[in-house]
Amino acid sequence: MIKAIEVLEKAREEKISLGAFNVGNLAIAKAVIEEAQERNTPVIVQMSPNETEYFGMDNFLDVVSNLRQKADVPIITNLDHGADLISCQKAIEAGFDMVHFDGSSLPYEENVKIAKILVEEAHSKDVLVEGELDKILGSSEVHDQGGEITQDFYTDPRMASEFVSATGIDTLAVFVGNKHGTYPDPLRIDLLRLEEIRKSTSCFLCLHGGSGVEAQDIKKASCFVNKINVNTELRIAYKETLENVLRGTDDLAIYKIMPPVIAAVKRVVGEKIDLFSCQELKAQEKVQEETQEEFQNIGKNLGEDYEI
Ligand SMILES: [Zn+2]
Repeated sequence: MIKAIEVLEKAREEKISLGAFNVGNLAIAKAVIEEAQERNTPVIVQMSPNETEYFGMDNFLDVVSNLRQKADVPIITNLDHGADLISCQKAIEAGFDMVHFDGSSLPYEENVKIAKILVEEAHSKDVLVEGELDKILGSSEVHDQGGEITQDFYTDPRMASEFVSATGIDTLAVFVGNKHGTYPDPLRIDLLRLEEIRKSTSCFLCLHGGSGVEAQDIKKASCFVNKINVNTELRIAYKETLENVLRGTDDLAIYKIMPPVIAAVKRVVGEKIDLFSCQELKAQEKVQEETQEEFQNIGKNLGEDYEI
């Protein structure tokens, strides 16, 4: 069985960020894993506490286990925004590959204390831990206002480095403008700050709020982060397609109603997987550097000609 850390490290080498998609039921699990398989890309499937309560941690793990047996790409499981020590411990015991402990509402010392305990327990089972220092605002819904953000809440690069060293976490969830949910105007993220955070620590970085952020910002962010979370856009595709299908059919059979819904969710997953790659930007940078070098050489040669 492949370890989560190996999958993340390989993705980092290949300059891609892994999409981490919230899976609220069987149909969404099928959509995410089928699309990952078709695109030959590893993915993370995850559940928030509310989704866990609805779907059931054991049901989720069994469903993913069945689906990933047939997939040729690594599928990693993650508990998203685990609120306390006990819920994260339960997820580690149950067999999740990664857990996200969201201690961002706790005092710093308490956040560090719990994260450290979890890191020790998780690492003994090859489970990775994601920590959160600054609360990532918003919720996974369609917001018709509230897109404005004050930078006072953004992650500070120096604090990020201190928090990672104090806890030993594998992944840090950063807040650089990436609120949860969608807003009337796409959110812009502070890429300079993100780059500073990237330089301040070598741990994996996670960008939550992958639905509402401007696409080109996400693309650029994928050069600095290793995991990007998406939930709201999957929910929108699911709900809108289901409503349309139900309005236009008298069919009662679930197996007739669900395929277009699964197809719509797959389309979103595919678009995100395309976006979460830094490969094109790195390739463009390389071409620019080579062109610049070529011009410098031409100039040098012309200079030499004049000397002759
Ligand atoms: Zn989140």
